[in-house]
Amino acid sequence: MVIMDGKEVSEALKRKITAEVDKMVSAGRRRPKLVAVLVGDDGASQVYVGHKERACGQVGFDSEVVRMPASTTADELNAVIDRLNADDSVDGFIVQLPLPGHLSEEAVIERISPLKDVDGFHPETTGRMISGLDAYLPATPAGILELIKYYNIETAGKHCVVIGRSNIVGRPIANLLSMKGYPGDCTVTLCHSRTADLKEIVRGADIVIAALGKAHFVTADMIKEGAVVIDVGITRIADPSKKSGFRIAGDVDYDNVAPKCSYITPVPGGVGPMTIACLMQNTLKAAERRTKR
Ligand code: NAD
Repeated sequence: MVIMDGKEVSEALKRKITAEVDKMVSAGRRRPKLVAVLVGDDGASQVYVGHKERACGQVGFDSEVVRMPASTTADELNAVIDRLNADDSVDGFIVQLPLPGHLSEEAVIERISPLKDVDGFHPETTGRMISGLDAYLPATPAGILELIKYYNIETAGKHCVVIGRSNIVGRPIANLLSMKGYPGDCTVTLCHSRTADLKEIVRGADIVIAALGKAHFVTADMIKEGAVVIDVGITRIADPSKKSGFRIAGDVDYDNVAPKCSYITPVPGGVGPMTIACLMQNTLKAAERRTKR
């Protein structure tokens, strides 16, 4: 069994990005710049934005966090998005999700210029991706593909079962792995909360991608011997022994599932760091596009 080390792979990816930034700067171009908009005071969102800011520093990007109160109105948020769309010093920006309940995530995503949509959530970006055109891939699915490539995992003709149909993980990764070429050519089954016989379906999988957000949902009896298991889930579980008061659990019962796998991602340290590195990769791509425009 091989543990897919997202920390190691993401560091390698970030080193490549840093080298590209160094080249840009030596050629007299400015550094790529990523802005994160954070609305409200959700604890997990603050942590994620902090990680993104730190990664920007690591790869040599400029970055900025626009912090807005939970009471921010749609008009106020729209004004910030419009300003960032128009600001030539900003290559890409993200609006950290989830948003407070009174704000429409769909409306916000649609307002972001597809040119700066480094989260890859805009419907135009999704349409390009599904059509196999050049696009910013959403960072978590992109991170999963990078892990598969790094470990040279065979995908052609494999049965891949994705659990979870969100727009940001489940649906795009199911789509990408069904595409022609590597890493792809999988036969994909997309499972969700209304799937009948889910256990049976997962048992037939060569590759399992768990992205449902239910701690330790995937148990050893659901896994075929030798399967590849990629765990996207991040759930906070109360743990008084930790300073923070919680620990992070994945969607996979790692201790019991790992011995049956050929490859498995840990949580934390698997998909999470890859997601951040791939956001950096999209921002670099945005900066390269800008200099070509
Ligand atoms: P979501 O929370 O929007 O949706 C969950 C999906 O799981 C839904 O499509 C639902 O149909 C499905 N689901 C729920 N219960 C189910 C069940 N019992 N059986 C089968 N399917 C079920 O999904 P999301 O935003 O993709 O997040 C999923 C998990 O991944 C969360 O824990 C989230 O924190 C985590 N996540 C991690 C990263 C990362 O970088 N590692 C990135 C994004 C999301």
